[in-house]
Amino acid sequence: MIESKRLPDIEPETSRLTSEQATHLLKLQRDVLAEVVQKADPQSALDLLCFTAQSLLPDSVCSIMLFDENRSALKVRAAPSLNREATEALNGLKPGPNAGSCGTAVYTAEPQFVCDTCSDPRWSSRDFHEFAEAFNIRACWSVPIRIGKDVVGSLALSCFEKRSPSEFHRLLLETGAYLAGIVLEREREQQRLWTMAYYDSLTGLPNRRLFNVQLLKMIEQARKTRCKMALLFLDLDHFKDINDTLGHHAGDTVLKQVAENLKSTLRPSDLIARLGGDEFVILLAHADNVLDVQHVADKIMAAVKRPVFLQEKGYHLSASIGISLFPDDGEDLHTLHKNADLAMYDAKSRGRGRYIYYRPDLARFVESRTALVKDIRQALEQQAFTLEFQPQAAAADGSFIGAEALIRWVHPQKGNISPLDFIPLAEETGQIIELGEWVLTSACRQCMMWWQEGLKEFVLAVNLSVKQLQEGFSEHLLAMIVGELGFPLRCLELEITESLVMETGGEALEELERLRQAGVSISMDDFGTGHSSLSQLKRMPISKLKIDRSFVRDIPEDPNDMIIARTIIAMGHSLGLEIVAEGVENEVQRNFLRKEGCDLLQGYLISRPLSPRAFQEFLHRQVAV
Ligand code: C2E
Ligand code: CA
Ligand code: CA
Repeated sequence: MIESKRLPDIEPETSRLTSEQATHLLKLQRDVLAEVVQKADPQSALDLLCFTAQSLLPDSVCSIMLFDENRSALKVRAAPSLNREATEALNGLKPGPNAGSCGTAVYTAEPQFVCDTCSDPRWSSRDFHEFAEAFNIRACWSVPIRIGKDVVGSLALSCFEKRSPSEFHRLLLETGAYLAGIVLEREREQQRLWTMAYYDSLTGLPNRRLFNVQLLKMIEQARKTRCKMALLFLDLDHFKDINDTLGHHAGDTVLKQVAENLKSTLRPSDLIARLGGDEFVILLAHADNVLDVQHVADKIMAAVKRPVFLQEKGYHLSASIGISLFPDDGEDLHTLHKNADLAMYDAKSRGRGRYIYYRPDLARFVESRTALVKDIRQALEQQAFTLEFQPQAAAADGSFIGAEALIRWVHPQKGNISPLDFIPLAEETGQIIELGEWVLTSACRQCMMWWQEGLKEFVLAVNLSVKQLQEGFSEHLLAMIVGELGFPLRCLELEITESLVMETGGEALEELERLRQAGVSISMDDFGTGHSSLSQLKRMPISKLKIDRSFVRDIPEDPNDMIIARTIIAMGHSLGLEIVAEGVENEVQRNFLRKEGCDLLQGYLISRPLSPRAFQEFLHRQVAV
């Protein structure tokens, strides 16, 4: 190995500072600190630091290098007098024991005063030689920059002639590195505050504040370029359930995962933010084509549906999305937000898992639904719902077999409201759980009263929403009506709607199965309106089919309906099911159904739904017959 001749790092005759030099150092400190405080611009402070430092050493350039994001290599941060080639050659410098002046300074965390780059072992590798040759660097003094104890980079003076630093230059470099540390620490703190103020700490996405700032800019731009944009409000469905059942940690995992999925779905020009909770907002920057928006909305839906793994189980989520378009649905931030939010609300109330575009009548529509939801709540509290009972008779001889309980609501202002108008809404809001429980217990209690008076026993049919069939329903129900009321389960029939069971599957079917095993019979309501196949029917724990009213209504005018009714009867019988026809209003219908072998009839021909008092009289007549 060639023993290289090293100039001493420090000039031997260390001189005391002249007063002029001391003034220079003080002025440097004052100027740089003033720049940081007054302009709050770290870059200009670092540039000023470099300019001043190099002005105090003839034929030199000053440079500041910092670690890159991975902390693996150094990158030029400030070197206002260094040309682009030199800067690029320096970038990527890896710290090491002999990595030039700066790489070594950072590596050893000690100042490195290389006084002759030609002979110094720290510059002995080929790359450094070439660099020194190419840019005429003859000496290079470098001092580590620290934030606290942490070395983050280096400050260097590179000279175009061999030389050793004087005491003044050593102090100059140390003071410079110290100042650079202050500037960078301040910058880091500013960034931290900025991140806190403008980013969501959980997902790392921009927050509402930053989104609004960005959106305002985009709106301004779109106005000029006459571009269309789409604003999407996204709210996860049933996120609260995950939080409640699996804990907040699981909830956080879900939010992070969803944020990732969403980000990966969007283009760089789109914006996304988390507004808080499980709400996200997305701006699609190029929405000139409605089909494009639809395409992205579909992709977003699919992204949300990607399974999230929690405690080793995959969970499938869905989201409700409201969309407003710029400029059609709003030309300013506030209106766009409000309308997207409204559309999202509508998506939620229509059963979630979908996206809805804003439309002008939405506000009124949503308003009236909201009012109705409130009224349902109030009616529940004030026990304002009542029941009617509609008899079912044997088709063969007209004998009374059972009755269906139907809910009634006389609204204080709006009068009678059909269950068709409020049951679906109660299903969407979940109020059906309480409402359904009220119907069941009230109907059972009422029947128990009649039977205890000695009136004729019959099968009580109660409509059950599939939403009620959550885990634990059967147990709860049996405890209530058998345990508390002593209701005989052989007299209970639950009517469920075909299409809903097919959609729900799994858990709901298990609950139905448990009920059947306990002795409750299950009947398939509105049969023929869904799409259940024979094989699906076979798997269901049901004992009855109710032919939907729509197939009975047009007998005998519509031959197709007659064929359908006939087919349902034959098919049901082949599966061992009893068949009920509903909405039977006249003799022709009754005779046809009787001839086809239908088992039970329900409809105005037999009786309209009756109030409890009227039904009691009806029961009395049954005894008398
Ligand atoms: P559904 O279960 O199919 O109930 C039969 C509906 O047909 C009742 O309407 C009844 O009044 C009506 N109806 C009975 N006979 C005839 C007839 O001969 N001709 C005509 N045109 N109609 C007849 P309602 O009471 O308005 O109930 C509508 C729907 O609301 C029910 O349809 C059921 O799906 C739902 N519903 C009613 N009460 C409840 C309840 O307590 N819980 C649940 N979940 N849903 C209920
Ligand atoms: Ca029914
Ligand atoms: Ca029905």
